[in-house]
Amino acid sequence: RLSSGHRLIVQPRMTGSLVVYDRALTRDEAKYAVLTCTIDDGRLLVYRDVRRLGTLWLLDERGWGDYTRRIGPEPLEETFTPFVFAERLKGTRAAIKKAIMDQRRVAGVGNIYANEALFEAGIDPSKATNKLSLDEFARLHAAVTGVLERAVQSSGTTVRDYRTGTGEEGRFQFELKVYGRGGAPCVTCGKKLVTTHAIDLRATTFCSKCQR
Ligand SMILES: [Zn+2]
Repeated sequence: RLSSGHRLIVQPRMTGSLVVYDRALTRDEAKYAVLTCTIDDGRLLVYRDVRRLGTLWLLDERGWGDYTRRIGPEPLEETFTPFVFAERLKGTRAAIKKAIMDQRRVAGVGNIYANEALFEAGIDPSKATNKLSLDEFARLHAAVTGVLERAVQSSGTTVRDYRTGTGEEGRFQFELKVYGRGGAPCVTCGKKLVTTHAIDLRATTFCSKCQR
């Protein structure tokens, strides 16, 4: 929240990150700094984005209200129960991977974490959402919240340019079981993992034996 009362919303996508500096930026750092703000204690808050794929929004109270109304519940909040999850997803025939990445249904699940959660839950990413059983919704709920919690604990996933608030790389990339592993053996059964772009044009990697 800015001193003007506006809110700064950052959607970093794959390559953007917010970094705090207690010194002036080097020339190299300045090259990728898209936005620089001074925070109350005098340090610099920098939005850094090498490929400039992210989006920044500056919203007033009304804009913020409209924005939050369009977004689904946050999976790491206590109120996000398996029942809430199933309610948000019901009634669509879309592939389950597309449904869990739809920010209007559930907030914060991007491509990497969708791949990982579906593997952990043992669910075929292309399966129609309305064909999931209650048991599958419960498993997927546990997998989505589990993957996000572990990713946060590992300071995120650096596949290219993502950096933490203090400029380091995340560590969750070392724990990925399917994302980026197409052609490699499944960690559970040894079968070759398959990558497809047919579901949503993004890379989806899965095990056709473990995920049904
Ligand atoms: Zn497998």
